[in-house]
Amino acid sequence: MTRERLLIIGGDAAGMGVAAHARRGRPEDELEIIALERGRYTSYSACGIPYWIGGEVGSRDELIARTPPEHRAQGIDVRLRTEATAIDLVARSVTARDLDDGSLCELSFDDLVIATGASPTWPDLPGLDASGLHGIQHLQDGDEVRAALDAGATRAVIVGAGYIGLEMAEALVRRGLSVTVIDRGQQPMSVVDEDMGALIAHAVRALGITLLTGTDLLEVTVADSRATGVICKALAGPPQRLDADLVILALGTTPQSELARAAGLDIGASGGIATDAAMRAQIGGVAQEHIWAAGDCVEVMHRVSQRPVAIALATHAAKQARVIGTRIAGGSATFPGVLGTAATKICALEIGRTGLSSREAAAAGFDVEATTVESTTKAGYFPGAEPITTKLLAERGTGRLLGAQIVGHEGSAKRIDVLATAIWCGLTVGQISELDLSYAPPFSPVWDPVQIAARKAAGR
Ligand SMILES: Cc1cc2nc3c(=O)[nH]c(=O)nc-3n(C[C@H](O)[C@H](O)[C@H](O)COP(=O)(O)OP(=O)(O)OC[C@H]3O[C@@H](n4cnc5c(N)ncnc54)[C@H](O)[C@@H]3O)c2cc1C
Repeated sequence: MTRERLLIIGGDAAGMGVAAHARRGRPEDELEIIALERGRYTSYSACGIPYWIGGEVGSRDELIARTPPEHRAQGIDVRLRTEATAIDLVARSVTARDLDDGSLCELSFDDLVIATGASPTWPDLPGLDASGLHGIQHLQDGDEVRAALDAGATRAVIVGAGYIGLEMAEALVRRGLSVTVIDRGQQPMSVVDEDMGALIAHAVRALGITLLTGTDLLEVTVADSRATGVICKALAGPPQRLDADLVILALGTTPQSELARAAGLDIGASGGIATDAAMRAQIGGVAQEHIWAAGDCVEVMHRVSQRPVAIALATHAAKQARVIGTRIAGGSATFPGVLGTAATKICALEIGRTGLSSREAAAAGFDVEATTVESTTKAGYFPGAEPITTKLLAERGTGRLLGAQIVGHEGSAKRIDVLATAIWCGLTVGQISELDLSYAPPFSPVWDPVQIAARKAAGR
């Protein structure tokens, strides 16, 4: 049997996930696996960067699940500082550049996996090409922020109050910096509704962070080619200058799909590589055999809106990688789509969301009935019982749950998983109120907050 080659572009969650699953199913003498990674690390947890910056995780190395030697021991040839620069689908080869010596090489493939991730969104504004501006995406970005802290940074401006911006804000406050976060939205975290965002805003400010909402970035101020702060503007106010030693842009991410686009593969409206349920890339809507894509660089089907979306989450990347690896190993698997279920925390306040927000539901054409309830994380009399707010969005008429958001103290965020499961299974709020969920005073009231919300939504 001739040995086939699996070539992977991108050496993090999606790419190395494919490698691991494929290797499990096919030995080295059958399948050669080469992974190209332009950065200095593989298999790292980008999700852990804010906790490393903030000091909760002791060292960068703890964020690295597997080093290149560990991959090589499993017959996976990882090439660091090696950037794929072009894909030739006809010749079935990839051009790669060694970023240390500039040399180019051609690598043929039998199977190709594009797992290039996403990059921080970088608006076209004055000063955005200055050095000392940081997006937070890869482990190297964490290195740069740590270097700025070591150099004595005391003031930080973070542009964007999504979960990465807020996690970084908390991390920098923990490190003793004075932090200002600006965001165009009226409330932070646009993936939840504004009323839930207002609860988050309260927690952010209670942490000592200056949060300027309804505020647009106009430009980054620059001296000697380095970012020295920002000029921003509230809707009704004059432009305001904020000086900083550290400026972080956390305006969301854009799928890195340029290589795929240049190769002629379909790119969806979200900017992600279009994929089918087998995670195959497409040309003209036709799935391409042995050309796969996974992770933050792709778009996949949203199970509620039935529209393609690009949502950058490690959970999606891992599951998509399993599908591809299983298929390359000769098995069968399909990716069933996403709900965008996510959790984060700001200090003691936990946040969970799943399915569609009110804005997304309206955009998808749903008529939604929203129900919000306040409850407690444990039995009301139990020591440590804290407030939890649960918001359900159900389809008017049918009662089918379309989306849910939870903001509350310890024990709140992971409750979103019950609601994600309910949406996944197409349950109505009435059915959710009947689920046999657990109870003991240290964990919840007799009626769990998600069921109190479901009962109210169902009018029971
Ligand atoms: C601060 C932060 C916190 C997060 N927290 C969470 C969380 O709590 N929960 C969650 O589910 N998700 C979280 N995420 C998202 C999660 O990290 C991503 O969804 C996940 O890393 C995606 O994996 P990926 O392999 O698709 O992309 P990436 O992890 O971005 O990896 C892509 C890799 O491809 C490499 N690459 C790109 N182009 C080329 C090329 N041409 N040649 C060679 N190599 C290339 C890049 O250098 C990169 O290493 C967080 C992300 C960040 C930044």
